[in-house]
Amino acid sequence: MQTVIGIDDTDSRERGMCTTYAARLVARRLREHGYRVPTLRLVRLNPAVEHKTRGNAALAVHTAAPPSVAFEVATSVVDERAVTADDGTAPGVVVATRSDERVVSFAADAVTTIHELDEAVRLIAAAGYRSAGWGGGRGKIGALAAVGAHEAFEEWTYEYIAYREPDRWGTPRDVDHDSLFAAADRAYPDAWDTVDREANAPVCVPNAPGPILYGIRGDDPFAVATVAAGIDGEPIHDRALFVTNQGTDVHVRPGELGNLSDGRAYRVTGTVGDEPETRQGGHVFFAVGDGDQRLQCVAFEPTKRFRNRVRNLREGDRVTVVGEVSEGTLKLEKFAVRDPVESEPRPPRCPACHRSMESAGAGQGYRCRDCGTTAPGTVDVAVDRDLDEGWYEVPPVARRHVAKPLVRGGFDAPTHPER
Ligand code: ZN
Repeated sequence: MQTVIGIDDTDSRERGMCTTYAARLVARRLREHGYRVPTLRLVRLNPAVEHKTRGNAALAVHTAAPPSVAFEVATSVVDERAVTADDGTAPGVVVATRSDERVVSFAADAVTTIHELDEAVRLIAAAGYRSAGWGGGRGKIGALAAVGAHEAFEEWTYEYIAYREPDRWGTPRDVDHDSLFAAADRAYPDAWDTVDREANAPVCVPNAPGPILYGIRGDDPFAVATVAAGIDGEPIHDRALFVTNQGTDVHVRPGELGNLSDGRAYRVTGTVGDEPETRQGGHVFFAVGDGDQRLQCVAFEPTKRFRNRVRNLREGDRVTVVGEVSEGTLKLEKFAVRDPVESEPRPPRCPACHRSMESAGAGQGYRCRDCGTTAPGTVDVAVDRDLDEGWYEVPPVARRHVAKPLVRGGFDAPTHPER
């Protein structure tokens, strides 16, 4: 195994540092020293973790450099760049030289569960890895997960990140709208979530201050680079291609109603119990159930047009919902319509006058008040549905980093991708 450097939590909300930028600096210095750096890996960990930096990312730098050099370079970059004085900034660096099964499981679990710092510290010692921490060293958790990630996860995508000239950080970004949308269209769907065409929004351009000009995501490293090459805008200071577990749904596990924990994301099947209801703030709530079990689900206002899909659900629809459970409520990322209600019982119409018949009393069937015609019971009437079978998803503007876009394929039902 090569030397793998894990880095986490060098984000500073105030100064706009960014862990991917620190990893890029480490890679550049190693190359200046003459060492190969074949892979930069951007690993998204459990998006529900409390102490997270934005997006809960950790980075791994794979290099041919010996561990002593790797450690020296990585710690000096963090020393120089990380704004450790900031509240909540607690960087960690871990350097691994050999594979360790326990670290691989730690990495696999880091995307669905919450690890404690002392667990990471123990494991680093047991594996014989070098490590360093700042401001309490909480970042060692993500750094350790990052060094085990390449063996823990199977599915990988790419992100091509372009960085701004440092003197422009914090100023409005200059990215040409038309060239961006044209480049995004040409590369779709090999590159996805570059823009939100319906919302007319450049999803790849961050809003927060920081060194990133844009990040192009996709299944194909050439496609994402081609999109970047087609974008006009301010000068690029630096660029890097990351291998990443973004867009893979790696945080989602199968779940059963009645057996779900807060802070984890699930795929759960049930029957719509309460019809969708739009509440204050524009959030749309409904419940799925199975027997005695019920789970409240919500599509939040920022999921925008996705809420219209949710509003089209009706009582009795068989659905699979996907999202993170928080305080007993599942925050929807996508859902599949498995078996939609296609008809509903209605009072029969009178064959003579065509008016709706009325109940003649419990168990007495139906009767036309005017004609006296009777009928034994309700009749099933076809319902017009604005929802087809298959998967629906939040639009690109509302997508979480780890959530898998439907256009990537591999789903167990027809898909209705948003773009
Ligand atoms: Zn009648």
